[in-house]
Amino acid sequence: MNLKEKILSGARIDFEEALSLYEMDFFELGELADAKRKELHGKKTYFNINRHINPTNICADICKFCAYAANRKNPNPYTMTHDEIMNIVKDVHSRGIKEIHIVSAHNPDTGIEWYLDIFKKIKTHYPDLHIKALTAAEVDFLARHYGKTYDEILDLMVQYGVDSMPGGGAEIFDEEVRDYICKGKVTSDQWLEIHEKWHSRGKKSNVTMLFGHVEKRKDRIDHMMRIRALQDKTGGFNCFIPLVYQSENNYLNVKEYITANEILKTMAISRIVLDNVANLKAYWVTSTVNLALVAQEFGANDLDGTIEKESINSAAGAASANGVNLEEFVALIKNTGFIPVERDSVYNEIKVW
Ligand code: SF4
Repeated sequence: MNLKEKILSGARIDFEEALSLYEMDFFELGELADAKRKELHGKKTYFNINRHINPTNICADICKFCAYAANRKNPNPYTMTHDEIMNIVKDVHSRGIKEIHIVSAHNPDTGIEWYLDIFKKIKTHYPDLHIKALTAAEVDFLARHYGKTYDEILDLMVQYGVDSMPGGGAEIFDEEVRDYICKGKVTSDQWLEIHEKWHSRGKKSNVTMLFGHVEKRKDRIDHMMRIRALQDKTGGFNCFIPLVYQSENNYLNVKEYITANEILKTMAISRIVLDNVANLKAYWVTSTVNLALVAQEFGANDLDGTIEKESINSAAGAASANGVNLEEFVALIKNTGFIPVERDSVYNEIKVW
């Protein structure tokens, strides 16, 4: 059986086989990923109506790729008050938004209550809103800064109303690359440990991969393999989200930008390797809407959501500051021959558009 036949038979592929897929004909690879997508989701493309809130950009860490945190290149520190956050939540809730996605920089001055109390306020006033909040990097920061264990922080999150965890902070698991791009932040093992503990509480999360900077193809495959291994144990990841590196306003000196071809290949390979993760997201914020639409043919079955406002990637050059209009988003998916399906945060179908 050759590799193509092996993949089509549904057999699991190993590291070397996955790496070799980068050498496969581009369209042949796309067809293999598309076959897996169709098997899982047919022509459905999921999205949700969500709102991102990034409450502070003051950060105790220094990641070279980051353009969001307040620093010399972005000298605009801010920290939102709870009233400001609640005003946003009130407004979006009145317009039918179902999910609030809250991630921040690692602000050492707010006190842990500032992080936790806002979840409780949102849940108390809007119990039907899904709160997706705190990346594993934030959990690690809070644990270190406030002298708590991961278990204690995760229990507090559950207690204060966090429903699921976003997949941020995974970056690239390879330790050498990680050391270079974000030394001092949560380690790969810690990131995986935190998600394992979260899943053991019966909770779901996502997992990202930041690529297109200084990592090699082998590092991407290694990243996928580590996710696959944890997913075999817990089954707690809803979605894999490859994030394309954004190059502006940061300290990572990347000379060659990743091509659209390489992005689509990486998406397709991840669809094939991650045979135990149901959903693959083309996060339009970092790939552009157009490429995300093409990625539907390369294994992606989720286009995230309308977002409304986004500060982290737009600070690094992405055209996502004001989200995307719902009607336009739906029309774009339909025009590419796919079926737009609005979902909730844990992939229950809400409406076929
Ligand atoms: S990526 Fe996150 S942790 Fe790193 S500097 Fe930026 S805000 Fe801070």
